[in-house]
Amino acid sequence: MKKLCTIFSTWMLLFSLLARGLAEDVRHEIHFPNLPDYKTLKCDFHMHTVFSDGQVWPTVRVAEAWRQGLDAIVLTDHVEYQPHKEDLSTNLQRPWELAADEAKKKKLLFPRGVEITKDTPPGHYNAIFLKDANQLKTKDFVEQVKRANEQGAFVFWNHHTWKGADKGRWQDVQTLLYDNKWLHGMEVANGSEYYPEAHKWCLEKNLTMLGNTDIHEPDLRRTTTAGDHRTLTLVFVKEPTLDGLKEALKQRRTAVWHKDRLIGSKEWLAPLFDASVIVERPHLYANKTLWLKIHNRSDVDIRLKKSGGRGPTEIFLAADGTSLVQIADVPSAEPMDLTYTAVNFLIAPKTGLPVTLHIEKP
Ligand SMILES: [Zn+2]
Ligand SMILES: [Zn+2]
Repeated sequence: MKKLCTIFSTWMLLFSLLARGLAEDVRHEIHFPNLPDYKTLKCDFHMHTVFSDGQVWPTVRVAEAWRQGLDAIVLTDHVEYQPHKEDLSTNLQRPWELAADEAKKKKLLFPRGVEITKDTPPGHYNAIFLKDANQLKTKDFVEQVKRANEQGAFVFWNHHTWKGADKGRWQDVQTLLYDNKWLHGMEVANGSEYYPEAHKWCLEKNLTMLGNTDIHEPDLRRTTTAGDHRTLTLVFVKEPTLDGLKEALKQRRTAVWHKDRLIGSKEWLAPLFDASVIVERPHLYANKTLWLKIHNRSDVDIRLKKSGGRGPTEIFLAADGTSLVQIADVPSAEPMDLTYTAVNFLIAPKTGLPVTLHIEKP
């Protein structure tokens, strides 16, 4: 009997090793629906490799992104900080070159990028969609950003609350970039952090909102769930191409998925909500109560709070789930609109998205 058990457990071990091997390349999609005129891409525009202070080889970033269901990534190693320069090339094109074939095979959009890394002020900026990253090897910060723009790059200010006495302040240097139209966006979220002030500035100054990981270590996630996911940027593109991605970023068609919420503007969170939430016609009307199903086609749990007169005080729509909703005190079976606030769809700091649930006649 003991021998049988040993044989059995050996087989189980072999089987699980084999299954793990086969699962290596499995992609788990992230679910956010397309909008009526746009395709929704899931993107991370800020990450590091061993070519600066990250811990992985460039191709590992591509493998991680594929596994986790991303559509576009950018390797943004520091221009000014290369702790492994004794061992590795300081050619700023190199990380991209090493991973470009893998990205192509996996159909990931893979623009070239770097992180311009200065003390505060001015701080850290990503320049993406570069043609020749090595042109940015100059000490003068304004000259770097100018050269990036001459290459048609998209430039955004990273984690603006980092670091030093002037952290978190908008200063003359940002005004200079902004007035020249050389600054196109800001990170409103970086890893676990959310920056309400950047959120506010993006709304006021028409800058693109971005959310990225800024990951340095390996990302061991195999799947993405509502409770465990990368901080990422949803980009609403006309075409899923490099040009389409850049056009959408420059036109500010983004939303940020950060922890248990989406961050953005009403302009893009409203259609994303409408595409995600499907309200079914009520299937039962009894004792002045309506029963209906509401589907959530996104990977974010949606939390609704009543803002009008009718309907439950709160409605929770689990990610990728169907919720059974009961509406009491309905005198007659007529169509109605229920008004709510999607409290975790932030259209400004501490401001949820107002939404209407249209209920048809049963
Ligand atoms: Zn940085
Ligand atoms: Zn970084």
